[in-house]
Amino acid sequence: MHELAIADSIVQSVLSEVERQGYGNLIEVGLRVGELTDIVTDSLCFGFEVLSRDTILRDTKLVIEQVPVSGECLTCRKKTSINIPVFQCEYCGGFEIKVVNGQELDIAYLKVDDDGDNDETEQRGE
Ligand SMILES: [Zn+2]
Repeated sequence: MHELAIADSIVQSVLSEVERQGYGNLIEVGLRVGELTDIVTDSLCFGFEVLSRDTILRDTKLVIEQVPVSGECLTCRKKTSINIPVFQCEYCGGFEIKVVNGQELDIAYLKVDDDGDNDETEQRGE
């Protein structure tokens, strides 16, 4: 199962980040998933839940942000949104599009609960 392998690599990288930064209680993991990836987000959440059950991430919520597909038209050089599965420029109608967004699979942020401090720290991914 595709999503389980992805969930596993997310759990592993979040765990190593938590260890490296010495984070306490991690509330949320924000994930950016592009529309062009064929990832089933429900399956990914389920995989994360199962794989994090025996780790310090057991109470951590996986929040998935879907990134719409967009690109740059090679004909008129404008940035255009794309209605998949048709890769067509919304300005000039050209079909030569360089995809810019939609293939993401990134950890966007980690939300940490600082003990005794009510400020929510957001750690933007690099
Ligand atoms: Zn165009």
